[in-house]
Amino acid sequence: MPHHIPKLVVLDRDGVINLDSDYFVKSPDEWIPIPGSLEAIAMLNHAGYRVVVASNQSGIGRGLFEMSALNAMHQKMHKALLALGGRVDAVFFCPHPAAENCGCRKPKAGMLHQIAERFDVDLRGVPVVGDSLRDLQAGVEVRCAPHLVKTGKGLRTLEKGGLPPDTRVHDDLHAFVETFLAERAAVTPPSTPDGRS
Ligand SMILES: [Mg+2]
Ligand SMILES: [Zn+2]
Repeated sequence: MPHHIPKLVVLDRDGVINLDSDYFVKSPDEWIPIPGSLEAIAMLNHAGYRVVVASNQSGIGRGLFEMSALNAMHQKMHKALLALGGRVDAVFFCPHPAAENCGCRKPKAGMLHQIAERFDVDLRGVPVVGDSLRDLQAGVEVRCAPHLVKTGKGLRTLEKGGLPPDTRVHDDLHAFVETFLAERAAVTPPSTPDGRS
């Protein structure tokens, strides 16, 4: 029996949904959506997909910003999405610095396991979209389909190479969503089960 892929998409945050910064995104003012990204999330929602974020936020563990600032950034994101008829169902984040060697910081798959548990699904085949190698590595660990966007650190990631096999590359989140939804529409099963072609 073919595996039923849940209608879920996992996104990295910085460099995928909002502009990245080498100095960390530390406040709502610094949280600036990439053009078209919020619209893309709304398109997924309208097609019946739940969208979940999995994000390394070691700036918290390093004391660069507080939980309240992270919450305020996500409030800004949720509010901007609401205005477009879109939503993110959950934001998973790892607050730990790399030195803590936790199980949730990507490239480890801890957050993906949390997502699978929370939504009670097998993530096999679910697209994971990121701009860094570690986003894709965490995804393939649970057999997600890896998608790299060229926004954020994406171009640098592409140049460095070494991407997981079958990684697909898109200009940005909006381009990913357009391609993804078009392909999913094309493989929708036929409405008559008589097996004739
Ligand atoms: Mg990123
Ligand atoms: Zn962690």
